[in-house]
Amino acid sequence: MSKRVVIIGAGAGGLSTAILLGKKGYHVTVMEKNNSFGGRGSVFFEKGFQFDMGPSWYLMPDIFEHFFDLIGEDIHDHINLKRLDPSYKIWFEEEDKPIEMTSDLKRDAKVFEFYQPGVMSNLKKYLEEAASKYNISKNSFIYKPFDSILDFFDKKTIFLWTKFSVISSFHKHIADFVRHPILRKILQYPLVFLGTSPYKAPAVYSLMNHIDFEMGVYYPMGGMTTVFEALFNIAKTNGVEFLFNSPVEQIVVQNSKAVGVKTMDNKIYPCDIVVSNADYHHTEVSLLEKPYRQFSKWYWKSRTIAPSGFILYLGLNKQYDNLVHHNLFFTDKWKASFEAIFNSKTLPENPSYYVCAPSKTDPKVAPQGCENLFVLVPTSSGLELDQQTLNNYRNKIIAHMTQTMKLDGLDDAIIFERLFTGKDFSQLYNAFKGTALGLAQNLRQTAAFRPKTKSKKVKDLYFVGANTNPGIGVPMCLISSQIVYKRIHGIKHGKPLSAKDTQFF
Ligand SMILES: Cc1cc2nc3c(=O)[nH]c(=O)nc-3n(C[C@H](O)[C@H](O)[C@H](O)COP(=O)(O)OP(=O)(O)OC[C@H]3O[C@@H](n4cnc5c(N)ncnc54)[C@H](O)[C@@H]3O)c2cc1C
Repeated sequence: MSKRVVIIGAGAGGLSTAILLGKKGYHVTVMEKNNSFGGRGSVFFEKGFQFDMGPSWYLMPDIFEHFFDLIGEDIHDHINLKRLDPSYKIWFEEEDKPIEMTSDLKRDAKVFEFYQPGVMSNLKKYLEEAASKYNISKNSFIYKPFDSILDFFDKKTIFLWTKFSVISSFHKHIADFVRHPILRKILQYPLVFLGTSPYKAPAVYSLMNHIDFEMGVYYPMGGMTTVFEALFNIAKTNGVEFLFNSPVEQIVVQNSKAVGVKTMDNKIYPCDIVVSNADYHHTEVSLLEKPYRQFSKWYWKSRTIAPSGFILYLGLNKQYDNLVHHNLFFTDKWKASFEAIFNSKTLPENPSYYVCAPSKTDPKVAPQGCENLFVLVPTSSGLELDQQTLNNYRNKIIAHMTQTMKLDGLDDAIIFERLFTGKDFSQLYNAFKGTALGLAQNLRQTAAFRPKTKSKKVKDLYFVGANTNPGIGVPMCLISSQIVYKRIHGIKHGKPLSAKDTQFF
C-alpha cells in the first residue's frame, strides 16, 4: 500500500512537494488553513480588479522550466509568459528624471555609462563573475540537502568559495567594481528579494544581478496566480487531495516519529510522513510539543527576520502613462532606509518603495481604462501600529507617489483600496512577527546555517518553503520541494533533481 503524506499548507513549497510525491505514488493530502491555494501568492478580486497579493516578479525562468520538465509537463501549456520591456523603471530622490532598465546589457550600458563613463568594462567583469556564481550555485549548491557545515566542502562548492568573492560583504564587493552611488543602488536593490540588506548579505548574492540584468523579467499573463493555479491543477491530476479551511493544530508524534496531524476540530489524520509548508517558527512553536522542537526561544529571538510590508492594493478609474509594469522609488537616505526596515520600531520615515502596475501588460486584471496598482513599502517585522498611524502613512505614500511619479489626481482616482500589513501576514499565514518573506537570507541564515528541511528531533517530519533551504522566492520554493524529495528518498547530490533520480516515467 502506498505511504500516506500530509502536507501542511498550499503555498509554492507545499504545492510543488505535493506534485513530486503524488507523482511518485504517495497518497498525498494537503491541509490548508485558508480557503484556497497559493499562500503568500494568493489572489483576490474586487470591483473588476484582480490583485496578486504577493509575488509579482517572475524571475529565474530556468528554475520554473526545470521543475515543469521534471514533472513531465510543458510549462507553456500552463503559463503564458511575456518578457517585460522595460524590465522596470526607477525614480531616484536625488535625480530629476527616472531611468528604465531593460535586462539588455547593450541598452542598459547607456544608463551605466551616463553615470560613470567607462564603467562597462568593470561591469562586464562583475556580471561574468555573477553568471559563474549563478551557474555553479545552481549545479552544486542551491539544490543541496544541507545536513551540516561539512556539506560546504565538496569540489564545486570549494571552487566557488576560492575563485570568487563569496562570503565578503555584498556592498563592498560592488564597490570594488562600481563607483557611482546611483549605479551601486541599482546593483544592490535586488537583495530586497531575499529579505536582506546589501550591507549584511554575502557577496555570493551578486548572482542576483545576473538574474536581473541578463535573464530578464517576465510576467505570466493572467497574473502570478496562474503559476499557483497550474501547480494546483497538476497536483490534482496526480491524485493529490486538498482540504481547504483546515488549519492544522498539532503534528501528532509517537515515539519521536510523526504519525499524523490534528485539526482544530480535534480530528486526527494519520499518515506516514508530514511535510510542513507553514512557516518554520509556527510549525516548531505552535504545532509541535516542546520535546520535539529543534530550536530554543533564544534561537528565534536571535534570528534576523525579513521585512514585513505596508501594502496598498489600489483600483484606479484611470491610467497613468508615467508608470510601467514594475516601478521603484529609491530614497537618497539609502543606508538608513535599510537600517529602518530591519531595526525600526515604527514605519520608515524615508522609505524606498515599489509600485506594480500589472494592468500595463495584462488588460484582464483591471476594468477597461482602469489601472491596478500594488504598492509595497518594506517595513520592519513585528510592528504594532494603530489605525491613525496607518492612515497617516497611507496619505504620505500616496502624496509622495503623486509628486515623484507625477500621478496627478491619484487620490481621487482610487475607487478600490485595501491595506495589508504585518498583522495580516500573521493572521492569514501564521507568519512569525508578520514577516512578508520569512527568515532573512544573510550569511548566518544561508545554506547549512538555515533551518533544515528535515527535523532532527522527529522522524518523518520535513519542512518545505521559504524559511528552509534554499530560501526566499517562488523559484526557491520549487527547489525546496526537490530537496525534500531528495531527503525522503536518500538522494544526497547537490544537482537539480533529474528523471534519473525520480524515475517518474
Ligand atoms: C508581498 C510579497 C511580495 C513578494 N514578491 C515576490 C516576487 O516578486 N517574486 C518571488 O519569486 N517571490 C516573491 N515573494 C516571496 C514568495 O511569495 C514566497 O517566498 C513564497 O511564495 C513562499 O512560499 P512558501 O512555500 O514558503 O509558503 P507560503 O506562501 O508561506 O504558504 C504557506 C501556507 O501554509 C498555510 N498555513 C500556515 N499555517 C498553517 C496551519 N497551521 N495549518 C494549515 N495551513 C497553514 C498558510 O496559510 C499558507 O497558505 C513575495 C512575497 C510577498 C509576501
